[in-house]
Amino acid sequence: MPELPEVETIRRGLEPVLVGARIERVEQRRADLRFPFPENFGKRLTGRKVVMLARRAKYLLAHLDDGTVLIIHLGMSGRISITGQGQLGEFTHNQGNRDIHDHVVLRLESGTEIIYNDPRRFGMMDLTTGTSLAAHPLLANIGIEPLGPDLTPEYLARHAAGRRTNLKSFLLDQRIIAGLGNIYVCEALFRARLNPSRAAACLATSTGKPNARTSALIPHIKDVLNEAIQAGGSTLKDYAQADGSLGYFQHSFHVYGREGEPCLTPACRGMVRRNVQAGRSTFFCPICQR
Ligand SMILES: [Zn+2]
Repeated sequence: MPELPEVETIRRGLEPVLVGARIERVEQRRADLRFPFPENFGKRLTGRKVVMLARRAKYLLAHLDDGTVLIIHLGMSGRISITGQGQLGEFTHNQGNRDIHDHVVLRLESGTEIIYNDPRRFGMMDLTTGTSLAAHPLLANIGIEPLGPDLTPEYLARHAAGRRTNLKSFLLDQRIIAGLGNIYVCEALFRARLNPSRAAACLATSTGKPNARTSALIPHIKDVLNEAIQAGGSTLKDYAQADGSLGYFQHSFHVYGREGEPCLTPACRGMVRRNVQAGRSTFFCPICQR
């Protein structure tokens, strides 16, 4: 499943190709993905120029020149690739015939094609306008961006104060922080040496103010995401050469996926353990995460 760093990597890969480009033709090859496509989907995109490509949580937001915004979510298995003989850029790749899971193809004036492929079809696309974007049902109730200026010790402490829910579930709560996924919560808690089962209230004083833990945790959250985005950026080119698709990359983690392996904290003799919290695997070191 693509997490925030992968979606951001895709955004960065698409931006130079898509922004400023006009959509010449839209090939919509099914009526639905996770949800039905909006009415006149192809018609509303055809002839429009993309003016900006933004990201909110794990949604890609393509702003068009008539005020329309195309919302894309990659679900569990969505991929976007760039192909065509047009102006081949850094992230473009020639591809042969359509795959049966290529559900949407945006053909740009340049001849470049942006292909959305999704075998499991948990992804979605919708159309809205720039002015109603913030009120869109998918976006209206989501929390702050973890990489933006709103994630402050004060914000986190205010929401954590008095909460008996565990740290892992608290940080995964999309109404508090949007787009922070399972892998990155595990990694940030490891770096902050906080046990994922602790009550979230440990991030606040009794009066709801931040404490040393809160201040230490936030840079770790930003670091794990930024490092993954950097890793994605450096592998973008290799990926494009391999299969033209953007965004999925190999990245090594300190605890995630390392059950039974030695903890990487210097001098710690712990072994990485896995348990399940709220249906998701949690990886942590029971010795150095307290
Ligand atoms: Zn350890």
